[in-house]
Amino acid sequence: MTDNSFAVAAIIDGLKRCLPAGYKSVGLHEPCFAGNEWKYVKDCLDTGWVSSVGKYVDLFEKKLAEYTGAKRAVAVVNGTAALHIALKLVGTERDDEVLVPALTFIATTNAITYCGAVPHFIDSEERTLGLDPHKLNDYLREIAEVRSEGCFNRKTKRRIRAVVPMHTFGHPVDLDPLAEVCVRFKLDLVEDAAESLGSFYKGCHTGNWGGLSTLSFNGNKTITTGGGGAIITNNEDLGKLAKHITTTAKVPHRWAFYHDQIGYNYRLPNINAALGCAQMEQLPDFLAKKRMLAERYFHEFTGIQGVRVFREPEFARSNYWLNTMVLDKENKMYRDVILEAANDCGIATRPAWTLMYKLPMFESCPRMDVSVAEDLEKRIINIPSSVFL
Ligand SMILES: *Cc1c(COP(=O)(O)O)cnc(C)c1O
Repeated sequence: MTDNSFAVAAIIDGLKRCLPAGYKSVGLHEPCFAGNEWKYVKDCLDTGWVSSVGKYVDLFEKKLAEYTGAKRAVAVVNGTAALHIALKLVGTERDDEVLVPALTFIATTNAITYCGAVPHFIDSEERTLGLDPHKLNDYLREIAEVRSEGCFNRKTKRRIRAVVPMHTFGHPVDLDPLAEVCVRFKLDLVEDAAESLGSFYKGCHTGNWGGLSTLSFNGNKTITTGGGGAIITNNEDLGKLAKHITTTAKVPHRWAFYHDQIGYNYRLPNINAALGCAQMEQLPDFLAKKRMLAERYFHEFTGIQGVRVFREPEFARSNYWLNTMVLDKENKMYRDVILEAANDCGIATRPAWTLMYKLPMFESCPRMDVSVAEDLEKRIINIPSSVFL
């Protein structure tokens, strides 16, 4: 006990040394509006173009596509809606199964259920904090049957439609072997890149491996539009379809209201897109500052026993959206003591999400052995990561 109370104090001191002198309280990830936000939002108010159409929506989509290297970006109302539509467009149907890490934010799993599909939980790997493609491969070999029309779960008889990896706290999962698994088992790949705007895998922006991928611009993300999200794709037809069904599936006409299928009112308002345009201009600067903060954490924590600050995997350049302490296995029982001590002195820290299958609505969903995710859940602590720190 004596040893460990010492370690907790050392961790809190390490955090304090990384934060600005004289702070009162520090949030986990607060937005930064240091560019043209006022100007562009004022323009929306002055011209009356605040709502469902306007030049900032088009411009924001263009900037997102350019930055990520995807052919098309479609701005939508939030990241969850983006996931819902991306899953729908790869053909997810009622009673399909969709593979998803047990260690993720609720939105990834909820979006699967919006399609009437069943989440099927997969383990993570310590190296990326994301889905483990090798373990997934072995698991599918055991439980899946590949037929000409697709992949089926031998036990439940349901079709396994897609895999939704999530780039945890901005760190890319190992996409190449995952893409191979998808080809081998005839699965669609939909990347939940909500946390990884500005993160690259082997030099290419995340979100370019799946047929469709999704981003989020919620208030706590790397850039924010207040609330917002986007679908990105390299398939022009899917891009067009994504735009169409997120804008009520209205067939363009000067006055007539004709809709050719059931669509969704998921479009991003122009006033939010205006914020997004201003934020995109600052993204390179945000990323540089976030990397500097991560370096400061690495530096301060090298001498501290029992914990490490998570570093990007060797194949990745991460955005360091949320910096993360990972406790050594033998110290995991101190997670809550550290959380309490840090929050008591005004330093926002939080644990990883509760694993999905522990939530009442997903208790009975299929899952593989998720022992690594179980272990990580107990050892992860997110630490302050705002740009201005
Ligand atoms: C933020 C986030 C989303 C989307 O959230 P919205 O609030 O709907 O924009 C989806 N998945 C993950 C992993 C996220 O962190």
